[in-house]
Amino acid sequence: EMKGSIQGVERFDSPGKGRGLRVTKPFKVGDLIFSCPAYSCVLSAKERGSYCEYCFNRKEGLARCGKCKKACYCNATCQRADWAMHKLECSAMVAFGPNWCPSETVRLVARILAVRKTQKEKHPSEKLMLIGEMQTHVEDVDNARREMNEADIAGLHRFYSKHLDFPDHSALLALFSQVACNGFTVEDEELSHMGTAVYPDVALINHSCLPSVIVTFKGTTAEVRAVTPMKRGDEVLISYIDILYPTDDRNSRLRDSYYFTCDCQECRTQSKDKAKLKVRKRSDPYEPEVVSNMVRYARKKIGDELREMCVQSLDEMGAVFDDANVYMLHMMYQAMGVCLYLGDWDGAIHYGEKVLKPYSVLYPAYSLNVSSMYLKLGRLYMGLEKRSQGLSALKKAMAIMEVAHGKDHHYIAELRKEMK
Ligand code: SAM
Repeated sequence: EMKGSIQGVERFDSPGKGRGLRVTKPFKVGDLIFSCPAYSCVLSAKERGSYCEYCFNRKEGLARCGKCKKACYCNATCQRADWAMHKLECSAMVAFGPNWCPSETVRLVARILAVRKTQKEKHPSEKLMLIGEMQTHVEDVDNARREMNEADIAGLHRFYSKHLDFPDHSALLALFSQVACNGFTVEDEELSHMGTAVYPDVALINHSCLPSVIVTFKGTTAEVRAVTPMKRGDEVLISYIDILYPTDDRNSRLRDSYYFTCDCQECRTQSKDKAKLKVRKRSDPYEPEVVSNMVRYARKKIGDELREMCVQSLDEMGAVFDDANVYMLHMMYQAMGVCLYLGDWDGAIHYGEKVLKPYSVLYPAYSLNVSSMYLKLGRLYMGLEKRSQGLSALKKAMAIMEVAHGKDHHYIAELRKEMK
C-alpha cells in the first residue's frame, strides 16, 4: 500500500525484527538521513522554567502562563500555538493544586488522544508508519507492568476527563504499551532528560548494539544521522539502551522493555565484554565464581542504593575490578553526579577524568554518552578557570557533536561561543 515516502529511506520487512527502515542511497558519517517532527511531545514538569513548553527552546526569562503560573513560553506566539495541548492541563493544575501528579507517560498519552481527535489527515511524522500501526506488544506485558499501566489509566481518567473522551480500556492498555516500546525521551546535549515524545516514522527503526545512526533533537524535532558509512540497502539501526554494559546486561534490559533478544555482531561475538568486565591483574587469577559474585553484587548496589553507596562500593569493588571496569565506571559516573549535586567541583572533575578514558575505548567513535561527558567535564574546567583543559575537552565534545547533531545545530554554535 502507499504509505507516503521520505527521500533516502524506505520501510521494509527486516528478517526477525518485524518492520524496519533501510537506506535507498549511500550516506556518509555525519549525514542527516531524515528528520521527523513530534506527533506529540511533553516537557518534563521538572524542566518548566528552563525550556519553552511549546518549542523546547532553552532560554532565560521565559514568560509564565498567567492562569496556571506553571507553563513557560518564549513569547505569545509559542503560548498560542501550545494552547490546544496546554488547555488539557492548565485549569486541572489549578484545581488539583499540589495533588496534580500524572506521570509523564500519562501526560503524553493525553496529548496523543487530543491530537488523534483533531488530526484527520496523516500527520507529517507519519510518512512511513501511522501512530496506530506502532508495535504494541500488549500480549507480552507482564503483571508488574500491567499494574503500572492500570495505574496510569486511572491517572488519565482522574486528571484529564474534563477535556477528553477516552477509548475503551483495552484500547488504552494497547496505547500505553505502544508508548512504552516506541516512545522517545527527549534529551539535551548533556543527555539530561527534557521530556517525552512520539515520532512514528522514527519508531520504525530497529535496535542494534552497533548502531548505524544516532537520534538527536532540535527543539522537539528528532534528527537521524549516520554514525557509520552506509551503503544502499543497509538497515537503519539505533541503540535503544545504553550500550556501555556487557551483553547479558544489555539483553536483559532489551527483553524487559522491548521484548526481544539482540542478535547483532556485538551480541554474537561479545568482543567488548572482556574489557567491560575487566578484573585486577594478579599472579593467580580470580576464580570465575569470585568475579560472577562481584557482578551480582555490583548490579544490586547500582539498582537499589546508589547514592550513599558509591564511595564505599567503589572501595569494595576496587579490590577486584580495574578502574576501567564498567561497574566501576557506572559508580564513578554516579559519584560525579553526587559531587555535582553537593557542589564539590574538584570531586566531580576527579571522577569525570577517570571515566572518560575507558569511555572512549568502550563506546563507539561517535557516542552521545562520550560527547556529553566531555561537555560536562569541559564546562567544569572552564568554570574553574582551567581554560586549556576546558578547551581540549570541549573540542572533543564538538568533534562528536558535529557528526551526531550536525554542524549547523544551535548546540554547536553555543559551544563555539563558550570556547571564545
Ligand atoms: N520492528 C518494529 C515494528 O515492526 O514496528 C519497529 C521498531 S519498534 C520501536 C521496537 C520493536 O521492534 C521491539 O519491541 C522489537 O519487537 C522489535 N525489534 C527492534 N529491534 C530488534 C532487533 N534487533 N531484533 C529483534 N527485534 C527487534
